[in-house]
Order: sequence, then C-alpha cells, then structure tokens
Amino acid sequence: MTDRQSANESASPPVPSRGRADVHLHTDTVDGLQSVTELLDYAEDQTDLDVVAITDHDAIRGALEARERAAQRNSRVQVITGTEVTTRHGHLLALFVEQEFPMLKTMDATLAAIHEAGGIAIVPHPMSWLTTSLGERTLRRIHALGGAGQRSGVYFDAIEMLNPSVAGRVACRRARDLNRTLLHLPVMAGSDAHSSSLIGSAYTTFPGRTPDDLRVAFAAHTTQAHGRFWDFNEHRAIAGASLYKAWVLVPARKAREVAGKFSVRSSEFEEPRLPRSDPRPSNPEPC
Ligand SMILES: [Zn+2]
Ligand SMILES: [Zn+2]
Repeated sequence: MTDRQSANESASPPVPSRGRADVHLHTDTVDGLQSVTELLDYAEDQTDLDVVAITDHDAIRGALEARERAAQRNSRVQVITGTEVTTRHGHLLALFVEQEFPMLKTMDATLAAIHEAGGIAIVPHPMSWLTTSLGERTLRRIHALGGAGQRSGVYFDAIEMLNPSVAGRVACRRARDLNRTLLHLPVMAGSDAHSSSLIGSAYTTFPGRTPDDLRVAFAAHTTQAHGRFWDFNEHRAIAGASLYKAWVLVPARKAREVAGKFSVRSSEFEEPRLPRSDPRPSNPEPC
C-alpha cells in the first residue's frame, strides 16, 4: 500500500457504527403516492438507510414486489415485508410477514395472528386522535397481560416513538411518557412516508446492518428512535395529493378492476408528482 493510498483511506469518512432503518412506508399499491420502484430508487440514491419496510394498509403485494425487485437489482437497501393492519382498536404494524391479515378483528386476535405467522407487531402513532390509533386503555390492558399475553402471542414487540406527521406529533409526549414509566417497549421511529421525499424523515438505528440485525435489536431493546417532524408545507403537499389519491385515483382503479371491459385511458389518472427534497438533519428525542 502506498502512502497516498493510506492517506486517502484514513481521510474517508467513518462508516456509521449503527444501521439505519425506516420501517413504516407506503406505496401506490394502496394509498401511497410513490411506486415501489420510486421508493427503492429514492432510498438507495438519496438516503443512507440500510433497511426499509413496506407497510401498505391491509395489503402485502407492494412489499413482496419491493423485496423481489431489491434482490434482482442487488440493492444496497434491504427490504422487510410488512403491512399496516386495520384492527377494531386502531392500526398495527406487522413486520417480517408475507401475508395479509383480516381487517377489523380485535387487537388481541390480530397480535396473536401476527406472531403465529412469525412476524413482530409494532404500535404505530400511539394514542393519536388524528388517525386510527391504539388508545392508552388498550396499551395498558395488553401490557397488564404480562406472561399470559406472551404465551398466547398477545403482546407488542415495539412502539413507534416518532411518527413525523401531525398525527404523530399530537400524542408524542404522552406516548413517550407512558412507555418510559410503564410499558418499557423497544422504540421505533418510522416516517409513514406516502411520498418519496419524506422517506427517512424518521428512522430507527440499531447494532448491525441487516433486517435480521434489526429484529435482534428489537428483542434486545437496543434500538433508538430519530427524526424530525414534517413542516406545514410538507403536510400541505401530501394532504392535497393524498386527498386526490383517496377520492379520485383509488376509486377509479377499483372501478376499472370491477368493470374491466370499459376502456379508460391511463393518462386521465396520472398522479401528481411531488417535488423532491433532501431530508433535513434530524434530532433525536424531538418530543
Ligand atoms: Zn397508520
Ligand atoms: Zn402508515
């Protein structure tokens, strides 16, 4: 090795010692504004994430597709398959699963089903009244099950301590305090990004780099939550596009699926493209 090579290597930036994961992401398989390809491109080219999880509402197709495409292109970013299940008691993230779960079942039944399927269950945007969320009573009740809950699969593996939307912001402190004083669940931060520019605005760090490392870290309580809350303009851009998606695009797609014999030009349903921007520096413990 020459002196020059040695100098160059010593001058290169140090590799972060902990992996980074954004494990709460949505695609246009359901209500997201980004395709699987756009999500993978952005995560690989514009972020330093090591791991992402696709968690579409009550759907697994986008996650399976993302994992397959990431493998085909030998992507630097590894994909966890997941879904955000709509239960009777609020949303629930299931990671490391390859199936959908029935909607509107009880929280207990859904938790047991996720663990039976070999997955882990994480509480997203806890106690938020601005979106369909688990309330404090349910969190306390399932915590109180203790060992009986563990034996029957009715337990949480982690809690989302930072969800950067306003829905996450309104309950962040209460959720943090409840977790610190009672629940003591491993922490997660997920962006809940429905469009590419917000991928990585919240993320979880963990010892290692891979999905398996992250899973071990949740079990060992060695994860940390990081990120920043979205600003007004980011919310406004997402809200407008999301409403368009929810009220025009998804119903139109469903109508096309039902009435396949009718011809509808795809250009009539093109989605608005949101401007890209680099995620700004994040602060740990933003609540
Ligand atoms: Zn949700
Ligand atoms: Zn979500």
